[in-house]
Amino acid sequence: MEESIKLASKPKKGEAWDVVIIGSGPAGLTAAIYTTRGAASTLILGGERWGGQLMLTTEVDNYPPLPGIQGPELMQKMREHATRFGAEFVEKNLDAVNFDPPTGGPFELSAGGIKYLAKSLIIATGADTKWLGVPGEDKLRGRGVSSCAPCDAPFFKGGNVAVIGGGDSAMEEALVLTKYAGDVTVIHRRDEFRASAAMQQKVFEQERKGKIKIVWDTVVKEFVGSEKLQKLKLKNVKTNKESELVVDGAFVAIGHIPSTKIFQGNLKLDQKGYIVVHDHIKTSIPGVFAAGDVHDYHYRQAITAAGFGCMAGMEALKYIEEIQSTKS
Ligand code: NAP
Repeated sequence: MEESIKLASKPKKGEAWDVVIIGSGPAGLTAAIYTTRGAASTLILGGERWGGQLMLTTEVDNYPPLPGIQGPELMQKMREHATRFGAEFVEKNLDAVNFDPPTGGPFELSAGGIKYLAKSLIIATGADTKWLGVPGEDKLRGRGVSSCAPCDAPFFKGGNVAVIGGGDSAMEEALVLTKYAGDVTVIHRRDEFRASAAMQQKVFEQERKGKIKIVWDTVVKEFVGSEKLQKLKLKNVKTNKESELVVDGAFVAIGHIPSTKIFQGNLKLDQKGYIVVHDHIKTSIPGVFAAGDVHDYHYRQAITAAGFGCMAGMEALKYIEEIQSTKS
């Protein structure tokens, strides 16, 4: 990495940051590159588990020009890039935000017991694992039920595991698990996968080799086990036939839900909780921008999240310039 070029400086005590970015996935970190290159003082509230979903991924093959890079390595590089021009990175979770401070002044935030002020905000909090919500799932999470094969696969060396889902995440989890588990079964509720052709191809190749089994048209009705997961109760949705699958581990990979709980009642959200935007990244509150999976349920790629981060960063710069010119 080249030496840092500090273009943006910290605000004085009691003054507001030009931009506070909440979240540190590709969207948030790209936004910081743009705001700091525009010499705007920038704070990234990166979260205690910084880096977002890519920190839980193995190989990333579609982020140009870095074919095959590991997810955490990609995020480390992005973090170095994002802080290179002077962004401050804090590994704390946002505890509260006041979008409507009584004085009409800057937005007020608190994280880890510290208060921050912000002239503009970029929300890039991404999305979290979606769970099935069937009996036993909650109780057995961390006791055989997981959502992260790269994190937990080594615990299931030689064991029987299931992956639930039919998207790219499920394919990826299954492929990771073939390196550890004895038996990998993918359980999908339909008779075709939603995943990209490339990922499907890899899974079908492993199926031909006998390393992956696929159970179509089937849902999990229950995770069964007392101390740890022992079996899954399944139901074929076409025949209604019920069956059981003895497993040591089950990986739920059925998508994500946006991380917007803290913004409920303040920002306009859609029925599923995604931030509603106009002009790509503008939220219902002037000066507050959204970028990445927190509003984009369509593309949901690291590269598109980074693109939205770029747009949010540029719009935040424009917004700060506008409020400064109306003040002077
Ligand atoms: P996704 O594409 O939304 O797929 C979710 C899968 O789970 C679908 O197959 C869906 O079934 C199934 N599902 C959803 N709710 C379910 C339920 N209640 N019960 C049973 N099955 C359920 O989510 P994703 O796989 O997490 O991928 C999200 C985005 O990230 C995508 O754009 C994907 O391309 C991207 N991604 C890319 C990579 C990569 O390129 N390496 C890796 C991971 C993710 P249906 O098909 O029937 O709807």
